[in-house]
Order: sequence, then structure tokens, then C-alpha cells
Amino acid sequence: MNRHKPIYLDYAATTPIDEEVLEVMNEVYRDAVGNPSSIHYEGRKARDILEQSRRRIAQMLGVAAGELYFTSSATEANNWILHAAVRDLGVRHLLTSPLEHPSVVQTVRFLQQQYPDLNVHWLAFDDWGAPRLDALEEILSKLGDQTVLVSLMHANNELGTLTDIAAVGVLCKEYGAYFHSDTVQTLGYYPFDAKHYGVDFFVGSAHKFYGPKGIGIAYIRKGIALGPLLHGGGQERSMRSGTEHIPAIAAMAKALEIAPAHRPEKRRRMEELWQYMQHVVVVEALPFARCLHEDLQRCHYKIFTLALPDKPEFELAVLRMDVEGICVSGGSACSSGAEQQTHVSKLFFQPRGEKPLRISLSHRTTREEIDLAIETIQRVFAHI
Ligand code: PLP
Repeated sequence: MNRHKPIYLDYAATTPIDEEVLEVMNEVYRDAVGNPSSIHYEGRKARDILEQSRRRIAQMLGVAAGELYFTSSATEANNWILHAAVRDLGVRHLLTSPLEHPSVVQTVRFLQQQYPDLNVHWLAFDDWGAPRLDALEEILSKLGDQTVLVSLMHANNELGTLTDIAAVGVLCKEYGAYFHSDTVQTLGYYPFDAKHYGVDFFVGSAHKFYGPKGIGIAYIRKGIALGPLLHGGGQERSMRSGTEHIPAIAAMAKALEIAPAHRPEKRRRMEELWQYMQHVVVVEALPFARCLHEDLQRCHYKIFTLALPDKPEFELAVLRMDVEGICVSGGSACSSGAEQQTHVSKLFFQPRGEKPLRISLSHRTTREEIDLAIETIQRVFAHI
């Protein structure tokens, strides 16, 4: 192996674009030059690609094409749905977890300031970071016929923890609450059926499943009257104006379409690596580390999170990993040029005297790469 090349193990942060997907994107950039809002030949051609892509994505997700809207990212889609649910549906109780992605947590905090009569219920979570469904039911049962939105993600991007969103969907139906789920980490990895999950809203982002960056989707169930995100030229059925990024949209459709091909095989490979890591970590290499999950029952098979002792030298050790060419995530994010511990690290790991180290896998990850990463963690963290 060429050790000058970094070992990338941060596929939960983003994935490289698939060659086949890039080909589609290039082809559309080259051959479909029109604006889909133009009525001439080139415009109609671009619109055709747009609507075909929407239909193909809809079919794969078990929804109607008219229920999907293209956005620039999942962050945008989450912001839109949460804002509009409070603004247009009269939601006055919002139930969510403090461990959701920042595009949910920060939006909810902002809404709390904007709408003094909005009641936010931050749900308790279990030892793996999944929201407690008994707590959810208890609150739902007390809210009677008030307008309620539940926002809970499918897989936590930092912990890997899966939430049983089908069970959440059942509870929401029973108590008449709207259900929004951030499904960014699971789309393309698990078979998806909106009806089975009982969601009213969900979001996705192409760069998490080997598609291009900067393109997302928002699903809004038919009949739910959310207002627009952006006003302007009337694109996306006047819900999200702005010229559509046709090549990225076509590429997203392709990425989602090829995801299920060889999925069982890809999943098996990744699960084997996950189990191998767990075995090596627990049994041999890193006695000072704790694997967050014991098995794959409740964890996304691409995310392997270690809890390490919270020592003052932790950040330096994470930096050292980078210097040694291992790209993993150490529970901090760079915002406004300053590195900061994530809210999940603070809320979930810090009280336990721990800090997280996330290794996230691709179907292309090799045993050799994992061995090198573990060996480096062993060397770098053992003496902090
Ligand atoms: N939600 C989750 C769970 C994520 O992991 C991410 C990306 O890190 C996002 C939302 C935001 O996606 P985007 O990069 O498209 O804004």
C-alpha cells in the first residue's frame, strides 16, 4: 500500500462520487444545456431529465414524484420542513432529540426564539443515544389534539445508532402527530419505504450515497400544505424557486438507483469489517477503548464509534491521526474556522468521561486499511 496516500475512513461525513454517477453528471452538463423553465427544445430536454430523475427517485423511495422537491442539501430540506411546519401547520409542540444533526437541533433552537408559544420537548435518550420511545409516547399521550411535530433521525451520524422509525411512525399515527425523519445516513444503504416508516417528511443528501455534493431532497407527503421555502421564478412547483441543478439531480437519481445493486454483498463486506474491528478492539488492540455498540442490531453498518478516555491530549492525538494519514472523525467540527467539540460529544460522551472517535466505512474499505487505522489508534492514543 502506498502510505503517502491518506486512508479515508470518514464515509459518514461524505462519500466520493461514483464513476458511473460522475459520467452521468458530465454527460448532462455537456449535452443538456437548457434551463428547464425555457419552453424551447433545449429547455424541454432539460425539463425531461429533471422530471424523469424525480420519477426514478420517487419510485425507489416508494413515494409519488409530486411529493419530492429538490434542494441544495439536506440541511436546507431540514430547515425548510421544520420552519414551514411551525409557520404553516400551526405546530405548537415539537418533540425531538438533542442528539439530532445540527441542521435540526439548531433550527429548532432558532424556532424556539422566533415562536415564544412553541413548546419544544427534548427527548431523553438511551445508552446508545436512541431517543426513548416510552418518553415519546408519554409526552404524545398528554398533548391531546394539539398540533404536534415529531422530528427523529433514522441513523445518528455520529453514533451510528439506529432509531426504530417505523415504531415512531406508528406512535405518531396513533396520536395524530406529524412525523419528520432525517434519513440522510440511511438512504441508499437500507431498503426504504416511506409508507412502512409512516413518515410525513423525510430528507436526503446525494453526497452520502456516492452522488455529488450540493444536492438534496425534501419529501412532503401529499395533502400537507407547507408553504414555499424560496420565492421567485416558481421552480419546484413554486415551493423552492431557483434554477434546478439538472446534472446533479440526474446524478443523484443514478446514485440512488445503483445503490441497491450488489447491496447485500456490499453490506456483508462492511459488516464483516465492522465485526472484525469490534473483535480486534475489544479483544486485543485497544483495551482503553469502548465500542459504543455490541452488535449490528441497532447500529448502521457503515459507522463504528469508539469511546475513548477524555484526556487533555485527546485533540492532539486526533490531529496526530491526521498527520499519520488516517482520516477519521474525532467528535469535533470546524465551524467559522474554529474547531469545536460537537453537541453529541458534549451531551453523550463527556458525562461518561469519554470522547468519540468515529471510523466510517465504504464497501471499498479493505482489511489492510482497517489494520493500519487500528494500529495507528493504538500507537497514538495508548499513551495520552
Ligand atoms: N443530516 C445528517 C444525519 C447528516 O449526517 C448530514 C450531513 O452530515 C446532514 C443532515 C446534512 O446534509 P447536507 O450535507 O446535505 O447538508
